[in-house]
Amino acid sequence: MNPIFENIKAYHAKLDNKARLVAVSKNFPAEDILEAYKAGQRIFGENKVQELTSKQPVLPGDIEWHFIGHLQTNKVKFIAPFVSMIHSIDRMKLLVEVNREAMKCERIIPCLLQFHIADEETKFGLDYEEACQMLESKEFSEMKNIRICGVMGMATFTENVTQVRNEFKFLKSTFDQLKEKYFQQSPHFSEISMGMSDDFLIALEEGSTLVRIGSAIFGSRSY
Ligand SMILES: *Cc1c(COP(=O)(O)O)cnc(C)c1O
Repeated sequence: MNPIFENIKAYHAKLDNKARLVAVSKNFPAEDILEAYKAGQRIFGENKVQELTSKQPVLPGDIEWHFIGHLQTNKVKFIAPFVSMIHSIDRMKLLVEVNREAMKCERIIPCLLQFHIADEETKFGLDYEEACQMLESKEFSEMKNIRICGVMGMATFTENVTQVRNEFKFLKSTFDQLKEKYFQQSPHFSEISMGMSDDFLIALEEGSTLVRIGSAIFGSRSY
């Protein structure tokens, strides 16, 4: 038996409907994705536009593709026709572009605001003030083709579980504050995307609704 099939089954059991699984298939071929699909997995995460657009047409049409990586504005047009969710909205300019391309496709694209919660400079993301500025802008109020569905964050890459837990708590409280301030009437604002292979159990305890798991399912990535 292919381990991917077993791994997917095991994660579905572990998550027990507390959070949904985004199977992060970056750097793995279409055959591996199909194996996960056969085990019942439907949400896949990719972080490179070119890789995603080459896999999407050769795989089943009912897959939900989630874009989880840093997204350049000039590449939004390639994924706008089919992407199910963009986790990595980290600046106004990007949101403007997603809205524009979604309009061309006559779609509403679900988006998450990515927050910078780690103490690593290399990771992308908004801070609370920047998010408020975006959400209060006139430009935002006029956008009809995006839907803000929640928040996303990546914890620091560290053995220190207390630090990781605190970063997830911080993301959860950011979610709660935004919900209270801007999205009380919006049932769509409900997602907290946090947790990866090494820290998803902590993320679940801290309120994650979407865990993004790659290597623990597909194996270690070769770059
Ligand atoms: C690669 C990646 C993941 C999955 O990481 P693993 O440690 O392999 O589970 C999750 N989220 C993002 C944004 C990623 O780029």
